[in-house]
Amino acid sequence: MINPFKLLGISDDVVNAVKDLGFENPTPIQEQSIPVLLEGNNDFVGLAQTGTGKTAAFGLPLLELIDFKSNKPQALILCPTRELCLQITNDIKNFSKNTSGANVVAVYGGANIMQQLREIRNGVQIVVATPGRMLDIIGRKAIDFTNVKYVVLDEADEMLNMGFQEDINDILSTTPDDKKTWLFSATMPPEVRRIAKNYMDSPVELTMGTKNTGNVNIEHEYYTVRARDKYAALKRIVDFNPEIFGVVFCKTKMDTQDVAEHLIKDGYNADALHGDLSQQQRDKVMQRFRDRHMQLLIATDVAARGIDVNNVTHVINYSLPDEIESYTHRSGRTGRAGKTGISICIVNSKEIGKIRQIERIIGKQFTKASLPTGFDVCEKQLFALVHKVHNVEVNEAQIEQYIPRIMDEFAELSKEDVIKRFASLEFNRFLEYYKNAPDLNATDERGERGERGERGERGARSNEGYTRLFINLGSVDDFTRGDLLSFVCNNGKISGKSIGKIDLKGVYSFFEVEDATVDALFNNFKGVEFNNRGVRIEKTAEGDGGGRSRGGFSGGGRREGGSYSGGRSGGDRRSGGGYGGGRREGGNSGGGFRDFSGRSREDRGAGRREGGSSDRKRRS
Ligand code: AMP
Repeated sequence: MINPFKLLGISDDVVNAVKDLGFENPTPIQEQSIPVLLEGNNDFVGLAQTGTGKTAAFGLPLLELIDFKSNKPQALILCPTRELCLQITNDIKNFSKNTSGANVVAVYGGANIMQQLREIRNGVQIVVATPGRMLDIIGRKAIDFTNVKYVVLDEADEMLNMGFQEDINDILSTTPDDKKTWLFSATMPPEVRRIAKNYMDSPVELTMGTKNTGNVNIEHEYYTVRARDKYAALKRIVDFNPEIFGVVFCKTKMDTQDVAEHLIKDGYNADALHGDLSQQQRDKVMQRFRDRHMQLLIATDVAARGIDVNNVTHVINYSLPDEIESYTHRSGRTGRAGKTGISICIVNSKEIGKIRQIERIIGKQFTKASLPTGFDVCEKQLFALVHKVHNVEVNEAQIEQYIPRIMDEFAELSKEDVIKRFASLEFNRFLEYYKNAPDLNATDERGERGERGERGERGARSNEGYTRLFINLGSVDDFTRGDLLSFVCNNGKISGKSIGKIDLKGVYSFFEVEDATVDALFNNFKGVEFNNRGVRIEKTAEGDGGGRSRGGFSGGGRREGGSYSGGRSGGDRRSGGGYGGGRREGGNSGGGFRDFSGRSREDRGAGRREGGSSDRKRRS
């Protein structure tokens, strides 16, 4: 059978190289764009998401079109971030590994410019660059673009978002007029349209999927929580997904750092990636994430742009992006290379409008999801543990010598008892954390304002034998205490004698009810409305059995008090190939099931801020 890349017009050397990378069939974008670009005489606009195989879509045709006997730059690829620059360079080097004489250079800020200049002097045909450093090198007259035949503008929308418009103008003005320009963008805002209009001559336009539409492999979910419960909600989502390998997006560098530090402190295997880190630190963080030695990457939009890590299971929008269009880029970190992924937004009730806007942009509906209860988390973690125990690889040679002693130790116990004990070893810890876990879901209509005054009141103690309940009715509904009493009794079908103290408030109230009648009351209140509004009763925090206050139970998690006293070694993780199989060292410090990367404390501080540039308009 003829290789499908060959059928598209790619030569044997390159076909063999992509075969070695495991590319068996072209992706849809490759199938559509390779034949067009191979003609070499068109300008081109490709509306495509990241993760769709876009690098090969332009990289493979370039390799066919370039004259590798000449050592002059013939193709310039501009992209927004250093990470993307390195990825593209690396990909093209891989595609051209059998192509004799092919030289590619990565030109980006934050790295030694002398080395880059040396590589350029030695002769290159393909330059992959971020705009700032490229301009610097052009300013030094260290590169000659008179032989450039192709310019690729990759993630054009992001370059413009980052304020590179002028730099791009300046760079393009040093390239010949008759070059061909190929533009790729995930979205097509008017600014990108303008570039296409100004720099291109009747470009061939290809849209992979619908305009601005997100990857079809991605499910979109949102959780509504009170603003103060965001972190607890994040932890609960992570705890409910023991195998998560995710990117958490925050709006600012400070938030990114903050969330990462909290997660690390709480025993999660996380780290921060943002513009205030030195290049070396960013590389280190990215490498650990790529190697899956880290489970959660907490990142700003800019820092995470162009991250090409396959198998990311979840993208979590800890805060929604200011520019709604950025959502497409964020969610595009998952569902790559044909895999499925979940993009989650943690929002407060005021942000639902933004979710609707995003839905319009991506052309897909979000699922409104409920945060799992503490019990759900415990159950999920228990079975993840059971699964892990079942599948663990036994090192027969090493364990053999200890078996007699182990058998001795368990001699008194039945198989069932041993199993119970192994499972409980970890399970108890989660049970302990989640035993008083509050419901973190905020209902849309409650809004933030209603919350504030209520915290202490909700936690107030009820009288012996009574449960204190919250109801979303109060004096603003023209209720007196008597009205409320009869409303509750009539709809709850209980006697007035079962009702204890009533605290009438503005938009809500509290009342006590005899413990024995609580269940009946809840049942009878299902579907009850007042003035076309659903009536809600809930146990208060005290009724839930736990406090909601900060420093009390704040959403479960790994550790309370007690220092994290170690973790498994990085080697462990590497050989384990995946998560969650870890032995915890240093006793039960209260961590969850998640294992730790084994980094040293200093290492873990790699997220420290170093001062410096702002994320936006950052020059490469
Ligand atoms: P890109 O959109 O270029 O960043 O590619 C996303 C991921 O898909 C990268 O990990 C590529 O290595 C991979 N990829 C690209 N093309 C193919 C293909 N034809 N078959 C399998 N994987 C691919």
